[in-house]
Amino acid sequence: MSGERGLPRQFYDMLMESQFWSPEQLRSYQQSQLSQLLRHARANVPFYQHRLDSVFASNGDIDWDKWNKIPILKRSDLVEQGPGLLATTLPPGHGGTTKAFTSGTSGAQLTLISTQVAHIALNGNRFRYYAWHEVDTSRDCCSVAGDDTAVAAWPEGKVLGRWGAEWDVDSLDGTMRQINRLTSLENILEFIERKRPAYLTSGPNRGLALALTAKRLGASVSFAAFLPHGEATSDRARAAISEAFGAKSIDLYSTKEGGHIAHLCPGGGELHVNAESVLVEIVDESGAPVPPGTQGRVIITPFFNAAQPLIRYDQGDLASWAPRCACGRNLPSITRIIGRSTTVFYHPDGRIRSAFLGKSRHLLNCEFWQIAQTGPTQFEVRYVPIDAAVPGNEAALAARMREMYFDDAEVTFRRVDAIPAGDRGKALEYVSEWEPPT
Ligand SMILES: [Zn+2]
Repeated sequence: MSGERGLPRQFYDMLMESQFWSPEQLRSYQQSQLSQLLRHARANVPFYQHRLDSVFASNGDIDWDKWNKIPILKRSDLVEQGPGLLATTLPPGHGGTTKAFTSGTSGAQLTLISTQVAHIALNGNRFRYYAWHEVDTSRDCCSVAGDDTAVAAWPEGKVLGRWGAEWDVDSLDGTMRQINRLTSLENILEFIERKRPAYLTSGPNRGLALALTAKRLGASVSFAAFLPHGEATSDRARAAISEAFGAKSIDLYSTKEGGHIAHLCPGGGELHVNAESVLVEIVDESGAPVPPGTQGRVIITPFFNAAQPLIRYDQGDLASWAPRCACGRNLPSITRIIGRSTTVFYHPDGRIRSAFLGKSRHLLNCEFWQIAQTGPTQFEVRYVPIDAAVPGNEAALAARMREMYFDDAEVTFRRVDAIPAGDRGKALEYVSEWEPPT
């Protein structure tokens, strides 16, 4: 990053201009990025050696009209292919790689590899989102993240340091502090009351649970804004966070696989796709593009992850195209994402727990499970054993649930052959089949 303006700053400056590019300019830029990605993937990633053949003409040119012929990449492909999806060689200048893990609602864990360039792109988009919404990185932010109880533990959490852009001297004054998400909601609120950050960032589900708990305890906590990560905030969470914390929720759509995919327009309304960094398609059940206003599956192709190219990856979310935005930006707009799991569990006495249970799945010797609240204090754990002859440690998990959720939880277990898909076609790990009478 030498010279007057390093790559991160150059990319950010481009984003501040490219948001107003004409649709033709944007398409031409996207095709230039995609052709580099496709040529690289075909040459250096075993999985893609023949998978992209349909778009390559015999002279090596790319026929963009055949784009839809590239098969859609499923999460199960990522699990099954493993190293076959990794590049044997990286293009020059893409920097070192970093590794992350994610375990989604379908159970099996994924290993995701990213590059320094992909990280620069993610940050450029993040800083544009802050600029759009006047998020002040010279103030402090609290992040509820991580599921290692030994890291960022209450009461002190972990100081992550500066969270603004490296070229912004004012951001030297702002600190990001992390508290891990296995911390009780009461202790997270205590941490926030003590540290007084201006911003809160967490999953929307956790934001909702914190807001409801703050209200119940009469905690006096306020934020300039709530910055959700992961899926967009539900109307219910947005209202609760506004009421409890006086904070607006600045929606975004981000995933572990795709980085920051879309951000709320500064004029409000819909989410603008970060179209300089990712191609978003919305398709129907047959894989054909849907017209504006029709809901379909979100398919992404991030441009900058040369280490593990995801070409036409089915993100497992639903959205639809919104009409062209009146704000003047030509970035495509999508409606708010139809959420993945946004479950919280309720106790009849008013306590609320976010459903996440951390890394306890191994206790049952299972890959797939579903934890359901079935009554005021009743829970049922449905799980698919890896080996039917090996008993799961049900007592240990029940104890863990009483520790994490409610001390009087009655937990029953049911071994099943499969977890049935929910109404969105996806098996959910946490479901609430009981809600308190209102
Ligand atoms: Zn707009």
